[in-house]
Amino acid sequence: MKNNYTLVIGLEIHAQLQTKSKMFCTDAVQFGAEPNSLTSPISLGHPGAMPVVNKKAVEFAIKMGLACGCKINELNYFDRKNYFYPDLPKGYQTTQDKAPICVGGAVEIRSGNGEKKTVRLNRIHMEEDAGKLIHLEGNADSFIDLNRAGTPLIEIVTEPDLRSAGDASTFLMAIRKLVRYLEICDGNMEEGSFRCDANVSVMPTGSTEYGKKVEIKNMNSFRFVQKAIDFEFSRQCNLLENGAEILSETRMFSAETGETYAMRSKETMNDYRYFPDPDLQPIFVDEKWLNSIREKMPPLPAFLFEKFTSHYLLTENDATFLTENRETALYFEALCLSKIPAKISANWLMGTVQSYLRENNLEMNQFPISASSLGELIQLVLDNTISHTIAAGELFNQLVLSPETPPINLAEKLNLFQNSDEAFLKEAIDKILLQMPDKVAAYKSGKKGLLGLFMGELKKATQGKADPRLSSQLLERALN
Ligand code: ADP
Ligand code: MG
Repeated sequence: MKNNYTLVIGLEIHAQLQTKSKMFCTDAVQFGAEPNSLTSPISLGHPGAMPVVNKKAVEFAIKMGLACGCKINELNYFDRKNYFYPDLPKGYQTTQDKAPICVGGAVEIRSGNGEKKTVRLNRIHMEEDAGKLIHLEGNADSFIDLNRAGTPLIEIVTEPDLRSAGDASTFLMAIRKLVRYLEICDGNMEEGSFRCDANVSVMPTGSTEYGKKVEIKNMNSFRFVQKAIDFEFSRQCNLLENGAEILSETRMFSAETGETYAMRSKETMNDYRYFPDPDLQPIFVDEKWLNSIREKMPPLPAFLFEKFTSHYLLTENDATFLTENRETALYFEALCLSKIPAKISANWLMGTVQSYLRENNLEMNQFPISASSLGELIQLVLDNTISHTIAAGELFNQLVLSPETPPINLAEKLNLFQNSDEAFLKEAIDKILLQMPDKVAAYKSGKKGLLGLFMGELKKATQGKADPRLSSQLLERALN
């Protein structure tokens, strides 16, 4: 049945900006502080309190606009969006309506099958977050924490260009990656600093006219976004198949049931009576300011992906892994700069380093070994001074514990150098072969695969320090 319908999705993504202070006053922006400890007459909306725009927040919004190829509105201003809710003591949210800071732009994603898709943006505007209502289990009262009130947000609004729940989730990840590269938002969905509303409609496949949309509010995990959209797709198809009408409404997603449920319908929706905020000056973004922000833009994931595949000749899979976050990408480039071949650098980061991070539940920016130091360690392997097994095992583990010590000093102290002493290795080989006469006979009668077994024994006998190339030469000579 779903085959007869096309799913249409547009996202509205809220990202909290990582500024020190709030959008219009000096209250600190901080998650998890004592409730109502980070408030002031401005964030509490006392009459007569005068807001002032946080310049850093405006710069962050412009950065995101530049990263998405938006047009930056030279003259933009704030509006009041009027509504009553207990988490909004002012009675209006300060936002941008008619003249947002960024318009247009697009972000490219890779669909599940590797196909590239362009998702156009409608706009990116600035606004402030509301406070938080708290309902404690077993307590009939509602509590209010206004620490979040006035926290700067950008809202990224797409055109209805997405066609599957998977693509919607991929797009959301791409946006989160961007805000993290730009260091304007921590992208933490659990703490609510990055969240998403999904607008969903269906139309008969082949049609060019969009159906009526439903808005699913405030989802805070990639999985929920996918589940909610998939559920909504089925629900709307079912309604149409049964000749029923789809209502324009706002719905919520329940993680318990995996279903969406109606919250309010279009008819009962607020009329926000937007008007320009008379307490705030319009923002004028002149060419000089814009250029100074442009100059501070970091390399972005799409640029690095292109560079990693075309300049460093990595596979798309490797490049995708390495550009997942800015720290890993920059670390990779630093390794290459210290003369480690690109593919080898990539393998170390995707293998040994990644396992270490995963086992210790760390992020790349918490990795203790500097790129130059890891480069020195890898160079010891490339020079045949230390075996790969020991370098990625014992030496790596020691270096993590004392990252300031040069790897070669550690190797010396722990006696980890590879053994290329021919006489020593020959003696060890002879001893092994003497102990396994039946295996030697089997090898001689044609079971050449046993070479691996002998190599393994030699590795054990030398604590992994036997030079592998020399060892296999000596082994073959001894066996033949
Ligand atoms: P509204 O007037 O209800 O605020 P907008 O046109 O401003 O609607 O769009 C809000 C969001 O809804 C945008 O992300 C847009 O892409 C998306 N959207 C608009 N129409 C549809 C539709 N028919 N199906 C799915 N998403 C839609
Ligand atoms: Mg709208």
